[in-house]
Amino acid sequence: MAEDKINTGMEDESFRDHLSTVTSEGKRVWVYPKKQKGKFYTARTIVSVFLLAFLFITPWIKINGHPFILFNVFDGKFILFGFAFGPQDFYIFALGFVTLVVFVVLFTAVYGRIFCGWVCPQTVFMEMVFRKIEYLIEGDAAKQRALDKEPMNGKKFFKKSFKHAIFFIIAFLIGNTFMAYLVGIDKTLDIISRSPTEHITGFIAVAVFSGIFYFVFSKFREQACTIVCPYGRLQGVLLDANSIVVAYDHVRGEPRGKLNETTGDCIDCNLCVAVCPTGIDIRNGTQLECVNCTSCIDACDSIMTKVNKPKGLIRYASMKGIKEKLKFRFTPRLILYSVLLVALISIFTALLVSRIDVKVNILRSPGKIYQEMPDNKISNLYHAVLVNNTFDDMPVEVKTNTPGAEILTVGKDVVIPSLSVHEAEFLVVMSKDDIKTTVVQLNIQVFAGGKLFYETKTTFIGPQKK
Ligand code: SF4
Ligand code: SF4
Repeated sequence: MAEDKINTGMEDESFRDHLSTVTSEGKRVWVYPKKQKGKFYTARTIVSVFLLAFLFITPWIKINGHPFILFNVFDGKFILFGFAFGPQDFYIFALGFVTLVVFVVLFTAVYGRIFCGWVCPQTVFMEMVFRKIEYLIEGDAAKQRALDKEPMNGKKFFKKSFKHAIFFIIAFLIGNTFMAYLVGIDKTLDIISRSPTEHITGFIAVAVFSGIFYFVFSKFREQACTIVCPYGRLQGVLLDANSIVVAYDHVRGEPRGKLNETTGDCIDCNLCVAVCPTGIDIRNGTQLECVNCTSCIDACDSIMTKVNKPKGLIRYASMKGIKEKLKFRFTPRLILYSVLLVALISIFTALLVSRIDVKVNILRSPGKIYQEMPDNKISNLYHAVLVNNTFDDMPVEVKTNTPGAEILTVGKDVVIPSLSVHEAEFLVVMSKDDIKTTVVQLNIQVFAGGKLFYETKTTFIGPQKK
């Protein structure tokens, strides 16, 4: 992050040259974050309970027999809050995606990585599920470190195997839930209840998802945020000195020193570093590795309370606000993002609201103007594009109420499959005696289940009148 963008107040910026979780030889430094408690941790626990409940319960919710949410990328079928979307709705998804990106950019520019600390599935599962289980089985950071240093013995073997077995069961649950979002709960239950040989692809998919989740939460951990996550990599361009981040008030805290020395408020107890799940020292300033988990805020507040100093030495604040003791203000960049976001959300909402269940477009087929038919009749060929945005296949009937005209569908009855676009051709036939002008005004109606749902006027071309 550029010095002119985020002035940390710290002179030595050499910590930015390397990851705190990798040694100079390139070896992984395992992070043992100390158990946390405090008001932010409690609030995050409550938020996590809701998020996890939503994640695990949602695949079981059905509306009229259909999933509440489904992302079936294999068949190109998507359901959001009970509304079905198919490939024909790609433009809505594309706009929704652009809106989401602008939202993320704006939100990050204003509130930093608040998403990472509070709602990102990686952080929620890592800190609120897997880490808590680890504390329960292996104890706090010091005990975990000691256990890892011990040579293998009965106690260590039991603790490690027990922990990893539970980790794998949870990863398996997450893998199946992930699968349920992709193919629906019924198919997922079918896959896991039958022999793998009957569902080899599904079985491999569940095994791969479970394996990936197990690896990420048992081994890879914070590296997913610090090395892989593209959102984390973007922080350098999304954040500026006005962004709200988890920040150390260096103006108040420095020079740090032992309690009772005449120094700043930081007593250099190192607790903020000890609790950090990404192994960094927030006192160095805003860093890409910081997932804004707020653990260091809770830790430092507990210390400030003990030493009778005001809380908030580490807090949600902007670096500029800390340096200049300024309140948050809207910059021109934020105003521009906001206007863009409101415009995109308005267009997106309008598209969603105006989206109808069935769309039809009927045009006379290009090419030959008319065809001579037996029995002194003339026909014109028409092309229909029918879009079915509902969950059910829809048999439709094309009719005309223009006197003397009749419809001949080409091939079988027209059925528009659920969530798809269907193209059909049909003939309109008229007796030459009924064709009084070269161009006849034709009214075409489309019925589904006996109900008229589309009507359009088009033209029927007959032979030139002398
Ligand atoms: S620096 Fe603080 S907020 Fe950032 S990841 Fe570490 S503990 Fe969490
Ligand atoms: S927890 Fe607070 S007092 Fe302790 S080292 Fe960190 S910033 Fe300083």
